[in-house]
Amino acid sequence: MTGTWKTNLETPSFKGSVGTNTGLFIDGKWTEPAEGGKIDVVNPATGKAITSVSLGTDKDVDLAVEAAKKAYKTVWGLKTPGTERGKLLFKLANLMEANLDELAALESLNCGKPFSSSKGFEIGAAIGTIRYYAGWADKIQGKTIETNENKFAYTRHEPYGVVGQIIPWNFPLLMFTWKIGPAVATGNCVVIKPSEMTPLTALKMGSLIQEAGFPPGVINIVNGYGHTVGAALSAHPEIRKIAFTGSTLVGRKIQEASAKSNLKVVTLELGGKSPNIIFDDADFEQAIKWGAMGIYSNMGQVCTAGSRIFVQEGIYDKFLAAFTQASKGLQGATGDPFAPGTQHGPQVSQTQLDRIMGYLDSARQDGATIHTGGERHGNEGYFIQPTIVTDCKPDMKIVREEVFGPVAAIIKFKTEEEVIEMANDTSYGLAAAVFTENNSRAIRVAHALEAGTTWINCYNTSEFQVPFGGYKQSGVGRELGEYAIETYTQVKGVHVNLGLRL
Ligand code: NAD
Repeated sequence: MTGTWKTNLETPSFKGSVGTNTGLFIDGKWTEPAEGGKIDVVNPATGKAITSVSLGTDKDVDLAVEAAKKAYKTVWGLKTPGTERGKLLFKLANLMEANLDELAALESLNCGKPFSSSKGFEIGAAIGTIRYYAGWADKIQGKTIETNENKFAYTRHEPYGVVGQIIPWNFPLLMFTWKIGPAVATGNCVVIKPSEMTPLTALKMGSLIQEAGFPPGVINIVNGYGHTVGAALSAHPEIRKIAFTGSTLVGRKIQEASAKSNLKVVTLELGGKSPNIIFDDADFEQAIKWGAMGIYSNMGQVCTAGSRIFVQEGIYDKFLAAFTQASKGLQGATGDPFAPGTQHGPQVSQTQLDRIMGYLDSARQDGATIHTGGERHGNEGYFIQPTIVTDCKPDMKIVREEVFGPVAAIIKFKTEEEVIEMANDTSYGLAAAVFTENNSRAIRVAHALEAGTTWINCYNTSEFQVPFGGYKQSGVGRELGEYAIETYTQVKGVHVNLGLRL
């Protein structure tokens, strides 16, 4: 028997009980860690503990991998027809929908996201992702390949077996579904590690997975630190593929551990320093609105955040004035994630807050100007004002490094050629956007930008049908869409002799 946590929330936008089991979910059961250990889960809007949950170690990873291996060999993989795997995923999506408000409340409580955003976007997108991959489960097909009259050859797209998955704290439930959806649809068994800071929705999913009726061991959830549970997953000899979302620094460690252990297949979704380019002829109002959403949504804690906004000289002053207004508007809508009208919540932790403030100090020291914002908001919790930095030079840290906070560097440019050079002058390549009413220019620039996602006249829109991933040091491989199905399967070529005699 493991611990459970339950509380009654009486907020202006959500009233009701929320809770979850607080143990580890291994082999279809809730268990306590082999070596004990607990971590406080903190509400970033107050800085106070909400509850505490179990922390696993490498011993629990071993148990979870064993359970996943057993499930793969005995009941899952291609032993369960795709239609059946899909049915279970559809059931899981329905259960998520039935618990949508509670999932949204847990996410807002644990991450500080405005409840309107958790409820209106993130949980819905997570449910949509599970449904999308449920639909794929019985549509995974190989090819027959013409060779010669004596041979029949075909391909099979087979699962890897046991896959490890490590996710960050910025979109805990959405990342959980991006990972388990395609993995389980294709017949893999998973051991997933949520971020130790934001485990509540992942743990809640354990109970929904149980209720949906997945065979024990198909999905195992081991909460814990990166240097223990995460490192054990990356180095585990029985894990054949690992999928990671997080920082470029840790992505590198995962690749190294995989190379040193068993050369597991690695997919990485890493950081970014994405350019958002606004030409003189852009729809001005729309560019302001999408640009603000591009950098400030989720308090800037988005890997694709449009943190370098390049504005053409003809509209630079007007743009800066209007963007300042938009930023100040959000400063006025900052506060309790559950209050109606809140659009901007806290950063996820004290560490993140300190990191962002450090970047603002370095910008000041380097000679940049904090044009608006730059201060903490309120006395409790980890709130930072939406912030604009100007007078930036290409070699400043604020221009080169991922801040992962509500900080926009606004930079002036003259020509299309110049801005393409400036935009691509980064080690990252996750996303980029261009705003212009000139369609040929829009497409020309979108193609010239070195990024895995480019948006034309919009920002941060994501669809589960469209592949997502990074160029350069922003990642390896793709998630979402049909591309994720490829990354969770390996291809076997089967040669059948129809008459060749030796
Ligand atoms: P992080 O890299 O510190 O942590 C991510 C996960 O890795 C966490 O679960 C953490 O516990 C684990 N981890 C830490 N050290 C580890 C180790 N040595 N071995 C294995 N696992 C380890 O990142 P974060 O601070 O949680 O998230 C922010 C970062 O994630 C940002 O850089 C952001 O750009 C990136 N991110 C990328 C995407 C994307 O899809 N490209 C999406 C969201 C976030």
